[in-house]
Amino acid sequence: MTQGPVLVVVDHHEGALTPPSTEVLTAARALAAGAAVAAVWLGEEGPGEAAREVLGRFGVSTVHVPELGGLPPQLTAVATEAVAAVVAATSPQAVLLVSTYAGKELAAGLAITVGTGAVVDADRVERRAEGVAAGKTVLGASWETVCAVTGPLPVVALRPAAVDAEPAPAAGEPAVVRVPVELTGRARAVSVVERTEHPTTGQVPLTDAQTVVVGGRGTGGDFTAVEELAELLGGAVGATRDVTDEGWREHSAQVGQTGVTVAPRLYIGVGVSGAVHHTVGMRAAQTVVAVNTDPEAPIFELADFGVVGAAEDVLPQAIETIRTHQRT
Ligand SMILES: Cc1cc2nc3c(=O)[nH]c(=O)nc-3n(C[C@H](O)[C@H](O)[C@H](O)COP(=O)(O)OP(=O)(O)OC[C@H]3O[C@@H](n4cnc5c(N)ncnc54)[C@H](O)[C@@H]3O)c2cc1C
Repeated sequence: MTQGPVLVVVDHHEGALTPPSTEVLTAARALAAGAAVAAVWLGEEGPGEAAREVLGRFGVSTVHVPELGGLPPQLTAVATEAVAAVVAATSPQAVLLVSTYAGKELAAGLAITVGTGAVVDADRVERRAEGVAAGKTVLGASWETVCAVTGPLPVVALRPAAVDAEPAPAAGEPAVVRVPVELTGRARAVSVVERTEHPTTGQVPLTDAQTVVVGGRGTGGDFTAVEELAELLGGAVGATRDVTDEGWREHSAQVGQTGVTVAPRLYIGVGVSGAVHHTVGMRAAQTVVAVNTDPEAPIFELADFGVVGAAEDVLPQAIETIRTHQRT
């Protein structure tokens, strides 16, 4: 019997695939081990030419576009029934998603609908004797766990930046297949009356960023150099609670227990003491750099690289060095 495809629910924004989607497609190819990788595109307009090119480059053979009768796929109940219809039509061996809020809700809804299990916030997915298993860090990144989905269809949501995005060895042209969906009363129980996108800063979203530069109280509220460094590295700016309490940054930038959790490749803490309420939100970062005037600051216990010095001295030098490096 041929293996079904690994099905990836891809995220897209303004018609373009998001970077975390290409990471999940990369993980899907490894998991498929030669079987097909298929995508679900939620949005009746379907992928445009540019998006199809990216999907083909990342190894997708078929893109399934559920027909939603005009209902918005942003509603979890609608998205759940749409993906369930693609699952019924394709009998996949696993379903992978991006672990955003929406992705996690969809993973849970899908698992309930098809009677299986889901793992969200995973940082890797692999095949083991027990079945498809997903690794994730838990309890403030103090434990690593591996969970095998024992239900009939593994559903795994992978965190952004957990996997390096790598195109397939050979690009293809994916087929686009429309999938009829019979939406139930549950999917129609809520309607979207209005949607307004908040203006963005043009930065990568904090939780998706591969580099996060966090400014703490030690910045004295001047984020100019923090922003410049983040921009140079293609990253996002975060903040500690002291900073958001002071009103120096929006609460949405707060990293930690009462803010967001980030797990970037590179975390740079500038004038951040490293209080546990903050570090629970960044412990899973792969490489931690700290800049602090106090050599005894707790952040140095976590740091892979530490600079004892004032932010206003260290950051301009770091920025200049990176610029010189980028020019050569
Ligand atoms: C229930 C609860 C929930 C909380 N949730 C969060 C949360 O989600 N996120 C969060 O961040 N905090 C949270 N906190 C607050 C947390 O405990 C700390 O108070 C906070 O993280 C400290 O922020 P900070 O590191 O910016 O400031 P500080 O602890 O004041 O540290 C400032 C650091 O800057 C250094 N410094 C000073 N001048 C310079 C300079 N010129 N250059 C370089 N370094 C300099 C200092 O040596 C010091 O280490 C929470 C607290 C509670 C009680």
